[in-house]
Amino acid sequence: RGGESGAVDQHYHILMMFTKVDKSRSLQDKFRVAMLSMVKHARFLEGEVLVLHFVSDPASKELGERMLQEFLFDATFKYEVLFHDVEALTQKLYPIVEAMQQHFSSGSGAYYSDAIFFLSVAMHHIMPESLTRILQLDLDLKYRTNIRDLFQEFDHFPPGAVIGITREMQPVYRHTFWQYRKENPQARVGEPPPEGLPGFNSGVMLLDLGAMRASALYNQLLKPDNVAKLADQYRFRGHLGDQDFFTMIGMEHPELFYPLACGWNRQLCTWWRDHGYGEVFHLYYRCNGPVYIYHGNCNSPIPDD
Ligand code: UDP
Ligand code: MN
Repeated sequence: RGGESGAVDQHYHILMMFTKVDKSRSLQDKFRVAMLSMVKHARFLEGEVLVLHFVSDPASKELGERMLQEFLFDATFKYEVLFHDVEALTQKLYPIVEAMQQHFSSGSGAYYSDAIFFLSVAMHHIMPESLTRILQLDLDLKYRTNIRDLFQEFDHFPPGAVIGITREMQPVYRHTFWQYRKENPQARVGEPPPEGLPGFNSGVMLLDLGAMRASALYNQLLKPDNVAKLADQYRFRGHLGDQDFFTMIGMEHPELFYPLACGWNRQLCTWWRDHGYGEVFHLYYRCNGPVYIYHGNCNSPIPDD
């Protein structure tokens, strides 16, 4: 509680996956770019607190705590840092997502340790009820604006929407839905924007945990039978975890997703341009309007400005 007025601090929650960071110099460099740029542009009001959640293993946590002392040194806002043990979260998650893993994970089996790649899908069941909104953010981002502005997007969700997310900027789902597209040549599935449905990228996500808990439709779609039904209907076989699940259910139920402007997750990976999709690549990759967050996915360099 904050003082005599009885006013309570308003908390803004963000979560980052932060595992095996001690083993990767490259991941450490990305984390530095992300945090320094976030802190540089972040502005919060008095009585507001940014809560940073990290999902870590013990060695990454130890390193992360040390790095954060440096990165948060110049912060002009109040903040809290919380580490969640990846092992404990995986244990809670596995029973919920085990069945969907076979459709959206690489390899044949449903590996226990891969369950964490579906954290966003079932976060509303994992986090305490008191937590109603959270951003999930990749480490390979560079912020060009105030992260607080992204939270304002929650207020624009139409009724029924549970997740805010930017479209995928490569023709990866044109590829994944190849068989469905052949059988349904008139479908918008995997087609480029603005008319088509190119799928989603999970590097920046607004998870309205309250809406996710309240949505009968969303929770129906998590059930193994319904996942299998949709995967069969769309001939879907992926390996990108939560992003594949959201993309697939978004084809059938677009109203569950609030489409964020492309500038909130300006992806820079161009891998598919050189792997058979050079002709159509630009239709997916282009993003007009201001860039608020760069995403250096597939190890792409991020412009200096
Ligand atoms: N990540 C992690 N440890 C790893 C690899 C990935 O914690 O060893 C997390 C990190 O937050 C990262 C996210 O998983 O941003 C997704 O991976 P990445 O950004 O490399 O995938 P891409 O965006 O290139 O598809
Ligand atoms: Mn990324």
